[in-house]
Amino acid sequence: TAWAAAVAAVRDLPAAARVLLVCHVNPDGDALGSMLGFGLGLRRLGVRDLQATFPGPPEVPEPFRWMPGVDLLVPQDDAYPVPDLVICFDAASESRLGDLADRLDTAGTSLVLDHHASNSGFGRISLVDPHAAATSVVALELLDRLGVTLDAEMATGLYVALATDTGSFRFEATTPAVHETAARLVATGIRPGDISRRVFDTRPFGAVRLFGEVLGRATLEPAAAAGHGLVWTYATRDDLVRHDQPAYVLEALIDSVRCTAEADVSCVVKQAGEAEWAVSLRSKGAVDVSRVAVALGGGGHRFAAGFTGRGSLDEVVGWIRAELAAGAVTPVA
Ligand code: 5GP
Ligand code: MN
Ligand code: MN
Repeated sequence: TAWAAAVAAVRDLPAAARVLLVCHVNPDGDALGSMLGFGLGLRRLGVRDLQATFPGPPEVPEPFRWMPGVDLLVPQDDAYPVPDLVICFDAASESRLGDLADRLDTAGTSLVLDHHASNSGFGRISLVDPHAAATSVVALELLDRLGVTLDAEMATGLYVALATDTGSFRFEATTPAVHETAARLVATGIRPGDISRRVFDTRPFGAVRLFGEVLGRATLEPAAAAGHGLVWTYATRDDLVRHDQPAYVLEALIDSVRCTAEADVSCVVKQAGEAEWAVSLRSKGAVDVSRVAVALGGGGHRFAAGFTGRGSLDEVVGWIRAELAAGAVTPVA
């Protein structure tokens, strides 16, 4: 099975093996948390030549910079020798790895840990569990199978990942098993209150003002999405410059927008380049937004998905409206 192959791929590594961990671009709590938590487990197993990286700008978003294991992170560097093993976290496809996809292809072997239903099946060994609430659930299972004893440092990243992807244990994916996993992680001595405050409830004053401005121009379209309603807003690079904020602060915006009672579908369009927009989509359950995202070149889960659109803001929002109107979206029973 894939599990047996994954265990063997790690356990049979030679002592001098070079291991590289990678995760998706614009890494979130699951990408970084599962990667660093698992990385600390590998270190515990005696893997010495171990590095972790992600595509794009090397800055770790401030909310995650304190996590144990950040010392494993290195800037993406093409001069780094070809790894014996690449392990990839939380990426549904190679396109989410940017330039790092190449590292995966040239490595001795590759292992993919993920939980996206839309996962393309890339990587030599693929551990994809679409029922897992976070990639860290898959990572923890592999650590268990490798016989690694969980400690608080590993548990921190794995917990950040689980808390992030379940919306702090609020989303539908929050099963009894998720709470049992969380209980195991918390039992190592980590402090959930402290972790939640750092990850979810801390942002610079400039970001608070920026949110005010961006939320102030949110638009409600009650007739969109087959009458289920769409609420959307956008943020430009100029907004970030004026409030002197890094791009990652915008990741939390969707959580304010999606509160809108009158809309099932919520959307934040974030300028990523001159005519390039990173789009976050959320649904409260009436509409499958992963279909919108996939139709527009992205992916994700039924109720949380995204894509990158090239064009003007009006064009990108127009495409979303069209997908929501054209029946690309199947109302969920
Ligand atoms: P977020 O809105 O938080 O950036 O992403 C929500 C979900 O959509 C994530 O689980 C992620 O997998 C997926 N997603 C977001 N942006 C993209 C994208 O550009 N391409 C793909 N394939 N998936 C995306
Ligand atoms: Mn992710
Ligand atoms: Mn995830």
